[in-house]
Amino acid sequence: MDLVKPYNANGIKRFVAITTLLSLVNPVQAKPSVRSLDKDPTDGGWLQCRAQEKFLDSFALICSTSKKGSETASAACLETGRSTGTVLRVARNLGVPPDDLCSLKKILGSLKVIAARGSSMPTPEDAMRDILFKIIDLDRDKINALFQTFTKKSVKESLNQAIAVIQRNNSRAENGSSFWQWAGTIPAFVKLSIAQGPQKMAPYLEWASCARWRYSKVLESHFSGPTGPPEWITSIYKLGRYYAAANAMVSLALKQSELFVSIELETVEPLARESFPFPQEHGLRTLLKELVPEHQEQILARLENMWNKEDAEVHFKNQFPQVLTPHAEMQMARFYESYPHLAPRLRYMGTSKKACYLCNEALNTHPLKIVAEKCHQKLYPTWLPAPCPSSTRKRNSDFLWKMTRQLERMTVQELRSSLRGVRRQFALDSTAGPSLTMTSYM
Ligand SMILES: [Zn+2]
Repeated sequence: MDLVKPYNANGIKRFVAITTLLSLVNPVQAKPSVRSLDKDPTDGGWLQCRAQEKFLDSFALICSTSKKGSETASAACLETGRSTGTVLRVARNLGVPPDDLCSLKKILGSLKVIAARGSSMPTPEDAMRDILFKIIDLDRDKINALFQTFTKKSVKESLNQAIAVIQRNNSRAENGSSFWQWAGTIPAFVKLSIAQGPQKMAPYLEWASCARWRYSKVLESHFSGPTGPPEWITSIYKLGRYYAAANAMVSLALKQSELFVSIELETVEPLARESFPFPQEHGLRTLLKELVPEHQEQILARLENMWNKEDAEVHFKNQFPQVLTPHAEMQMARFYESYPHLAPRLRYMGTSKKACYLCNEALNTHPLKIVAEKCHQKLYPTWLPAPCPSSTRKRNSDFLWKMTRQLERMTVQELRSSLRGVRRQFALDSTAGPSLTMTSYM
């Protein structure tokens, strides 16, 4: 691809300066959006498309193999209806290395076998197990990082208290409800190690998948605090996603086997990150002078108080990103700008984690209308406007210009609100992947 930058030096400096300031004042720009995948699963009208969307979310989830989400955050699209067969296209922030690509192709190969339903067709249970083993092996770094949260000092206290409650309840015969029986596995689950291997881990991930989709209400009613569920619960939710992902993928291979007849996995060539030296002309005082000249000193004092720093100017400079990254969602959008004839009929992009505010805005205003329906609305100052083909440069630079103005207006509003002490709640960003609500074999 021959790509150009959709900005000039001054434009990108201004954009990053405003994004950094706004993210420091309020990192979440709106309520996280509700995904349609989490809505009514009994509406048969869009079940076929939903199954493909769940598959894409699942595949993107397993593509993100590292605990460093900024490196392996992934997006996936399904190109169907070609005479040569289906293409499953994947973009990852820093690209897909050969060994991960090889593992992903093996998983897709297993799905092909399942879809072919030949004489050697495994039972659905065997197929699930096979796929889940492969996923655990591929994503061991990330799965291991999730298990590590159970050993954190900040997590241990509430986890041990919960285990004491569970053991008390399970010691009473009258409390033999399915929830307490299920919860009785928590002490063994949190002691698991990735070193025990996929065969040992797989049944526990199936167990974990019940946390989110069967027992979340009762689980959270017993163990959540005023700020929401503790980290050990969200980690169990995240681990359960791997079973849900395997289930969603096997389910699509069985229900829409024609998609897998000659399916191929292709990757988007990664776009490079860029180093970003601090632009001296966009210091905090300068920005405040431009944005809120009437309250400049007052707001500066308020920010020092809010950030608990003696010198807001220095803190602002320290928070400035040094490297900018084109997110996987934007890399995928750029790919289809370069090759519009390959744009998928299903205008859906599966993502390994909820889309950020800027990707969501960019996709929602994109002419191709390929949506990622989940968004945590968080603003990342490290967001790099991805290079684009020269044919779409004007549209992309217009978007960036409009976005900068929009962010400036939002920043002014937030700065003025900060004088009144108004702040929004912080939202989780990493609970993505498929739900279990519509995922079944048959
Ligand atoms: Zn993003």
